[in-house]
Amino acid sequence: GDVRSAIHKIGAAEIEVHFGAQVRAPQNLPLPGIKHIVAIASGKGGVGKSTVAANLAIALTLEGAHVGLLDADIYGPSQAQMFGSQGSKLMVDDQKRMVPLERYGIKLISMANIVPPGQAMVWRGPILHGTIKQFLQEVAWGDLDYLIIDLPPGTGDVQLSLSQLTRLSGGLIVTTPQDVARIDAERAVDMFKRVQVNILGVIENMSYFEQNGHKTYIFGQGGGRKMAEQYKTAFLGEIPIALSVREGGDSGVPVVVGAPQSPEAEAFRQAARNLAGQLSMHSYLLLPMA
Ligand code: ADP
Repeated sequence: GDVRSAIHKIGAAEIEVHFGAQVRAPQNLPLPGIKHIVAIASGKGGVGKSTVAANLAIALTLEGAHVGLLDADIYGPSQAQMFGSQGSKLMVDDQKRMVPLERYGIKLISMANIVPPGQAMVWRGPILHGTIKQFLQEVAWGDLDYLIIDLPPGTGDVQLSLSQLTRLSGGLIVTTPQDVARIDAERAVDMFKRVQVNILGVIENMSYFEQNGHKTYIFGQGGGRKMAEQYKTAFLGEIPIALSVREGGDSGVPVVVGAPQSPEAEAFRQAARNLAGQLSMHSYLLLPMA
């Protein structure tokens, strides 16, 4: 409003104000044109890691950032379904690089668009490493503020390859509030620590069910926050359990796009802003590699 009236005073009739994200980059970029690489992990499957990755990635674009999403959950890639791009084939550009699909403003690469669904893959170490390398270096990602990586649950082999091939801005842990889930999530924390990737924060998913303005903490309250305190990292937010989140994932229209006014979409957007804030702070601290 202030900007508008100030500009009107100097004689402009029609103005349009565009807000963009000014994303601060670390001193050394992890890959040409890419400012931040963030890996999203969980200790086990089913806690909503892929759902969180998809909604966070889109939420970051809604803040004005350029975002890529790499579905590196090679054992159970689900991002193609979340983005409704199961049938799409990846193209190759004139430099023989894979061209990501574009959905909801995001550049998306999923294993599901490379290997036919249902085809069993045997991932021997060198093949896995080569595939991750290709995903990073032989994809026409273009200029990105954030490359979000959806990791496979549990195992540490993709983390290991990533840490050898590039420098992550950090890892993010998705957990549910129960103690059992947190014990599993600690494994994900350990795997990042072992490869010297710092933890940017914890997101708690399926935190509560909200009805008529009343929140019921089905699986107990405060587990994710406790975990963040224990690891001296940021607590990025609580995501409610909601039908719209599940339906959004199944139908290929994630809730931040499909029901943008809903409290659950707002929870994802707030978590994305918190993540961006953490990255901005960490950019000051990320020193060039020796
Ligand atoms: P993971 O990647 O950890 O294996 P997914 O993201 O595939 O988990 O989620 C598992 C299932 O739970 C999916 O059907 C998804 O739609 C659902 N789900 C995830 N988060 C929520 C939520 N906050 N509310 C409702 N359903 C959810």
